[in-house]
Amino acid sequence: MTVAEKTLIDEINELREKKNAVILAHYYQRGEIQDIADFIGDSLELARRAQETDADIIVFAGVRFMAETAKILNPEKKVLHPNPESGCPMADMATYEGVKKLKEEHPDAAVVAYVNTNADVKTLADVIVTSRNAVKVVKALEEDKIIFVPDQFLGGFIAQQVPEKEFILWKGFCPPHFNLSPDQLLELKEKYPDAKIAVHPECNTKTTEIADFVGSTSQIIEFATTCDAENVIIGTEVGLKHQLEKINPNKNYIFPVNADYCGTVHCCDMKKNTLDKIKEVLENETNEIVLPEEIIEKARKPLDRMLQIV
Ligand code: SF4
Repeated sequence: MTVAEKTLIDEINELREKKNAVILAHYYQRGEIQDIADFIGDSLELARRAQETDADIIVFAGVRFMAETAKILNPEKKVLHPNPESGCPMADMATYEGVKKLKEEHPDAAVVAYVNTNADVKTLADVIVTSRNAVKVVKALEEDKIIFVPDQFLGGFIAQQVPEKEFILWKGFCPPHFNLSPDQLLELKEKYPDAKIAVHPECNTKTTEIADFVGSTSQIIEFATTCDAENVIIGTEVGLKHQLEKINPNKNYIFPVNADYCGTVHCCDMKKNTLDKIKEVLENETNEIVLPEEIIEKARKPLDRMLQIV
């Protein structure tokens, strides 16, 4: 660590203490952000942490919909987003008007929205899900017909496990996960024949089909750090390598990353948050997440419903 980095971290720590702030970071954030975070987690874990904290300020190092979710669960708290440019292309694929129209066309269906949706779309949902709890939540619903937004691949993965229900899938996708082809994984498997393959359900179906394990980010951590294989090929965002190596450094975690900065599986939006930006928002209390009261109230209901079911 350079002297400049150490000074920056000291300044962040001082501000965090003075302002009674917490820093929540998603597993896909840069390693140096994960290292200074109060809590690291996937979408559900962070949503829960946001609800439990007694801090006055939440600095949310993740993409915009995550910071919005923290605000919806904590309307009385100040939620700061280090970089407002850090959005989720998949969340942006589901528009309020489009989902509303689909809902009107299928009044007998339950709208199940992945947490990766913008706040206005959440207001149309009957329940929110994460990749970890989606199957459990969908099974618990009374409706036999499900509109799932926005990820067609996660939706398809859930549909396989809940065959008794009919699914209408929004055609969104996560570009970094979608770009991961089965060939990339099979090439690595040739190099490491004893390796196990673990992938996220946001990957396209051809890729999930060849995996030994399909699960959410935290489920991948559990599997990869505890399975009997020494080499584990991981099909999700490369930021996860940092935590995996911290939790169990005795294994080899292999990520099929392209040379391109925003290639497979590298979410350039997640990487738009930096330590400099965290210091800046803590110092000036800028980039606050502000949502209309009506949106907070309506979006909170499906989030609470999820938290009650899981
Ligand atoms: S990894 Fe995919 S789903 Fe997650 S923030 Fe990036 S684009 Fe969105």
